[in-house]
Amino acid sequence: MSKVPFITLNNGVRMPQLGFGVFQVPDDEAAAAVGTALEAGYRSIDTAAVYENEKGTGQAIAASGIARDELFVTTKLWNSEHGYDTALRAFDTSLGKLGLDYVDLYLIHWPVPSRDAYVDTWKALEKIYADGRAKAIGVSNFHPAHLERLLAETSIVPVLDQVELHPQLQQAEIRTVNARHNIVTEAWSPLGQGKGLLDSPVLAAIGHKHGRTPAQVVLRWHLQLGNVVIPKSVTPSRIRENIDVFGFELEDDDLAAIAALDSGNRLGPDPETFDMA
Ligand code: NAD
Repeated sequence: MSKVPFITLNNGVRMPQLGFGVFQVPDDEAAAAVGTALEAGYRSIDTAAVYENEKGTGQAIAASGIARDELFVTTKLWNSEHGYDTALRAFDTSLGKLGLDYVDLYLIHWPVPSRDAYVDTWKALEKIYADGRAKAIGVSNFHPAHLERLLAETSIVPVLDQVELHPQLQQAEIRTVNARHNIVTEAWSPLGQGKGLLDSPVLAAIGHKHGRTPAQVVLRWHLQLGNVVIPKSVTPSRIRENIDVFGFELEDDDLAAIAALDSGNRLGPDPETFDMA
């Protein structure tokens, strides 16, 4: 079984550097997909209230028989739940659906600057953390300005910032600012959602050299950069392929070739303006 290394977060909690994402997996398919991932050796699962599959994810966790302290479960607070009291209630709902007593990581999904509420929301996450119901708290889709405001107005530094990050959107500035504050950068859509990116001849050539697929090359690149990654697939062979990335090492020229793929191509919404509730 693949040996996934741990990253130590700024509060001392250890998080597997590679996990399994379940965005767009319907609730009734989530249990099977998460079950396959757990069998393949994944121990970190990334869900969110808005994915509407916390229940199926929780069922797979319960059915796995794996000790709770060997698992790392992340969920996220949706945009409509910003604000102190609403955030506390949203967390209770998520925990109930997951069927857990605590999550390992609770994230603010998007800053939604137009609501001007993420500071209050963060204070609710601080309370959840103080109560031991989330072992760590963090943010997602926060740009440096949003982070700087949290750091100035609240007490706890987020353990990580989960942002869109793949070879076509390498997020150099965010990674630098995060690192300066001892905040881990976690990559969402790490494979660039598959299509397009994984057809790159550059990745094919590097993969050919190492006897690996383009997806494995991209995941290896993230790991060597120090990112936490959460690739998604519902195809069992790909679920296994995506965790089998610890038996090879990219060389400097491989890393340079991938660095040159950065085109600033954003696949998801812009965190400055995204306010979908
Ligand atoms: P991804 O980059 O992980 O790509 C997933 C797609 O790539 C799959 O649907 C499949 O089509 C393809 N794929 C997967 N493995 C492959 C392989 N081995 N070979 C060929 N193709 C393969 O994209 P994602 O699902 O958008 O992101 C991953 C996770 O990140 C999500 O499941 C979710 O947990 C998280 N996420 C978070 C946010 C956020 O706002 N915080 C937004 C999007 C996603």
